[in-house]
Amino acid sequence: MKAIVKENPGKGACLKEYPMPVLGEGDVLIKIKAAAICGTDLHIYDWNNWAQNAGIKLPTVLGHECSGEVVEVGAAVKTLKAGDYVACETHIPCGKCYQCRNGLQHICANLVIYGVHTDGCFAEYSKIPEECAVRIPESINPNVAAVLEPLGTAVRACIEIQASGKNVAVIGCGPIGLMAVNAAKALGAANIIAVDVNSLRLNIAEGLGATHIINSAEVDSAGRILEVTNGVGVDAFIDASGNTGAILNGFKSLRKGGRVALIGLPSKPLEIDLGPYVVFKEASIVGIHGRRMYETWTAMSNILDKGLLNIDPIITHVIKLEEYEKGFEILEKGYGGKVILVP
Ligand code: ZN
Repeated sequence: MKAIVKENPGKGACLKEYPMPVLGEGDVLIKIKAAAICGTDLHIYDWNNWAQNAGIKLPTVLGHECSGEVVEVGAAVKTLKAGDYVACETHIPCGKCYQCRNGLQHICANLVIYGVHTDGCFAEYSKIPEECAVRIPESINPNVAAVLEPLGTAVRACIEIQASGKNVAVIGCGPIGLMAVNAAKALGAANIIAVDVNSLRLNIAEGLGATHIINSAEVDSAGRILEVTNGVGVDAFIDASGNTGAILNGFKSLRKGGRVALIGLPSKPLEIDLGPYVVFKEASIVGIHGRRMYETWTAMSNILDKGLLNIDPIITHVIKLEEYEKGFEILEKGYGGKVILVP
């Protein structure tokens, strides 16, 4: 089969013939309909410091966000059959550790990440354990289905901050931030304040439901958020930027008793004065490491099936698998939203 393979340390990857996956008894074989490039793929493609220390064995097939059709199942698979339409959950849990036995499979102690620690989906076919192939409604088109993994992260953040009826700020309007803006709207947030330094992304955010947009390169975002909320501050904020300065501004603009969901990964430690910004504010902070298995998938599938989300504007490029170099360049230079590769 054709696959985008990371063969050697150093920048880049190559399109080549790669052996078909060999199914274990608990695996399913998926014919990939669409796959999306994520920041994590770019880290591995570039072979940066993070990738060098992420326990990745080469050669490996890149990619972890995808949709497809089950074409074969292992002998022990009970819940899926050939012909099923699925999207992939990338957190592969062990099923035996403390977290797995207490409903927290998504943060399993022995977590294996599909497409990072296993061969991924930038290929014609891919295998994944049965529990990570999630059946989805036929009403969701394959390109949108390919981004359910990051969308689930955004939907979960909105559920965790209890967005309904609230004034919410979304900091960072890359693909996941944009998805969070749209999910906050779907879940019934009142005001949705999108913050970014890129006016193009802010315009997309406005189209997806942001009631206010703030270019933090031009104005003091915390001050502006206080103005918008009559001096009270937002009920909640979601950080999808991973920028330490932006996160601090988020805490400054949070009202007392507010909620915080952190998705972005800062590249350096964040220094924060816990007294005024967390303790006296009684801020509730939750880290978001992907989707809860499977509550988030169920909620996301329900709201998508009812047409409450509009993901199309976030998907800016749909290209052939063979054009992967162009796709990585689009992501690297930041002039697109989600890039879809079609095998
Ligand atoms: Zn586990």
